[in-house]
Amino acid sequence: MTLNFETDYLIEQLKEKKPKKVLVQLPEGVKQNAFEISKVFEDLNIEVVFSGETCWGGCAIAVEEAKSLGSDLIVHFGHAKFIETPEESPEILYIEIRDELNLIPWLEKSLKELEEFKKIGLSYSIQHRHDIKKVIKFYEDNGKKIVLSKKIGNVAYEGHIIGCQYSGLKSIEDKVDCFVILGNNFHSMGAALSVEKPVFLIDVYNDKITNMKGVRDKILKQRIVSVEKFKNSKNIGVIIETKIGQKFGMHDLLIKKLKEKGKNVILITMNEMTPDKLMNFYYIDCFIELACPRIAIDDFAKYEKPILTFKEALIGLGDLTWDEVLKKGIV
Ligand code: SF4
Repeated sequence: MTLNFETDYLIEQLKEKKPKKVLVQLPEGVKQNAFEISKVFEDLNIEVVFSGETCWGGCAIAVEEAKSLGSDLIVHFGHAKFIETPEESPEILYIEIRDELNLIPWLEKSLKELEEFKKIGLSYSIQHRHDIKKVIKFYEDNGKKIVLSKKIGNVAYEGHIIGCQYSGLKSIEDKVDCFVILGNNFHSMGAALSVEKPVFLIDVYNDKITNMKGVRDKILKQRIVSVEKFKNSKNIGVIIETKIGQKFGMHDLLIKKLKEKGKNVILITMNEMTPDKLMNFYYIDCFIELACPRIAIDDFAKYEKPILTFKEALIGLGDLTWDEVLKKGIV
């Protein structure tokens, strides 16, 4: 990993914006670089505070944390812009971070896996964005046709992938024979759940090319079990998170529907859902989380009680069918 924190751009922006106190948000894998990043601010005599909260995506902009600290700028590293923040929020500067790697050895390795496929749907996580033209050229030089996933919803660029928005991949599915995800298991798993064509992950950090075959069936089985458990549950906890990009706002409608089906419901709020926070809600049989849909899906094994996404709750209530949800994508 050779991370480029776009220091020149950061310094230029800091000189222009002249903040007094900055709150910095770093993704989990970059928190180890806090000292290096801190130095940039110290050299400019700018007070800097690092957020110790988790920062899994561009949805987690620490507006309230910054306000309570009195920060006049948030510098959010490692994700592209995901949402518009409210007017009263401190200004936000996004530093996407580039990983400057030579991707060619991994691309060469991938050719064997991709032998039978001519047209490839390509998506990348943000740290590879600067390399994407080279990646396309490599595949084209090797006889492939590349189609980038479309920019739909909260993704920032054509070809950009995030964990909760796969419409851009679905929209090109009929034009390609398979998908290649230049990123990590989190992104490729979401892709495998959302599209029916084969999905291959190029994971440079674990030095692996993975065919995601079988992931979809395995996860779907788990999701069906959770929905069936929900149908037999009486006491339901609906969870909303306080993260600014995860306020999906459907809880009133959902609670109404649950009550109409004779369920007892309470509404719970938290900054981030974790197993220990749910443990003491002893008499709740099933939770529905209206925040990051990937928590319910990816962290299935960590929770004792079933956790459903909004779409899954609608299946359990009889408002949607599995076929309808799978057609649009489960995530
Ligand atoms: S909602 Fe979840 S998947 Fe989407 S950006 Fe946030 S953390 Fe990532």
